[in-house]
Amino acid sequence: MNNQTIFQFFHWYYSKEGNLWNHAKEQASYLASLGVTQVWLPPAYKGAGGADDPGYAVYDLFDLGEFDQKGRVRTRYGTLQEYQDCIRAFHENGIKVLADIVLNHKIGGDEKERIWVQKVDAEDRNKKIGEPYPVEAYTKFIFPGRKGKYSNYIWDWQSFAGISVDKTIDLILNEYTNGNWENVPGTENGNYDYLMGNDIEFRNPYVREELKKWGAWYTETTGIDGYRLDALKHINPDFYPEWLDFLKDRFKRDFLCIGEYWKNEVGDLLKYIETTGSRIQLFDAPLHYNFYQASRKGASCDLSHILAGSLTEKHPELSITFIDNHDTQPLQSLQSPVEDWFRPIAYALILLREQATPCVFYPVLYGAKYFDERNGEKQYVELPALSCIATMMRARKHLAYGKQTDYFDHPNTIGWIREGVEEKENSGCAVVIANSQEGYKTMSMGIRHARRVMVDCCGQRKEKVELNDQGEATFPVNGGAVSVWIFENTDLDKRN
Ligand code: CA
Repeated sequence: MNNQTIFQFFHWYYSKEGNLWNHAKEQASYLASLGVTQVWLPPAYKGAGGADDPGYAVYDLFDLGEFDQKGRVRTRYGTLQEYQDCIRAFHENGIKVLADIVLNHKIGGDEKERIWVQKVDAEDRNKKIGEPYPVEAYTKFIFPGRKGKYSNYIWDWQSFAGISVDKTIDLILNEYTNGNWENVPGTENGNYDYLMGNDIEFRNPYVREELKKWGAWYTETTGIDGYRLDALKHINPDFYPEWLDFLKDRFKRDFLCIGEYWKNEVGDLLKYIETTGSRIQLFDAPLHYNFYQASRKGASCDLSHILAGSLTEKHPELSITFIDNHDTQPLQSLQSPVEDWFRPIAYALILLREQATPCVFYPVLYGAKYFDERNGEKQYVELPALSCIATMMRARKHLAYGKQTDYFDHPNTIGWIREGVEEKENSGCAVVIANSQEGYKTMSMGIRHARRVMVDCCGQRKEKVELNDQGEATFPVNGGAVSVWIFENTDLDKRN
């Protein structure tokens, strides 16, 4: 089987001009040539901020750029038709499409309702403050531009568990809350059910039914192949298994499901996998933090432990690895960008090893430049495209196969080899990484490769390395860099 590679086709600051679906459609065949097998597209439904909204502030799940709501017909990324055309282009190039599913909250209600709420302590949400009191809040969603097409469900205060009024956090006293938040996996702040906006009440059976109906409509309308599930830590863990089983049964097929459970504690990730019966793969957030720390520590980081405590180490089959995403970008909620010098190293660690499935982030291929301001702090951000990572993606597609042997035996220089397989011409590679000075690693590609010559496809080192009679050689690497040694005359760029 070919190696699988996911590509996240957006970043937080992607242009608001409404061309993302068209741009993605045009890139489908190029991404296929790099070995991309699944593409993750951003939330496709109308957000509270209309055509400016990145999509995570969900307003109307049924409006995929089709109705004049929140100031425009299209979303930040384009129209429904353009979205459907984009998905078709990926399918024509053999790439599956993952939809970004944001069901924890809704924002931008159409009408106010007078409701009773209970204020809670923001740092300990199980702790109630004072007596219940009435407020007027935008908890009613009637979607005036859609006029009941596809669904006439009206979201109201019975569909939500919590709101925030003037920076307080309030539990809505509806008939399902019974004065308590839902049991969610996130235990920060006592109970992390509430994240933002109007928090969806999953104990309400009508809400669950509506979300299943929507899931079926969405899957049918768009033809998507899988789901990237947002904010799992804040959602009742019973809900998604029920939702996914319903869709699997309805469409008689399996969907790739990847969840965002943002926690730097692998034990919590493993527990969630167990709770949800291994239906949902998870992003390896602990590994992201290992990379982030390693990029800041430089030579004082012990590279031989770079995978320690990651989901990839504990449960590789369900681990989705990544370096950065839209949330870890500067000034975003989980700001922790891996520093530039370390990014090629980190990508080698996710693209060229056997374990886990990697997800490559948009700016790596296309770059990203933007000014952003948050809380009065202004920052210019420039992420250059990294051509060496496109090369590594091709190496993953064609060469990174066969037995893997690790040489994680030095704090500043580590390496591993893939022996290659018969079915893939010229497959096999040797990877060496250094986070301090120039280094060397003596490694064996296996005796069947004796006397073959290897070159660094990343172009860091210009010399050739010849394997000895046992198939062994000493591979060099520059300081603070990665070299990926492949068999000479492989012509990676010309292979399909
Ligand atoms: Ca919630």
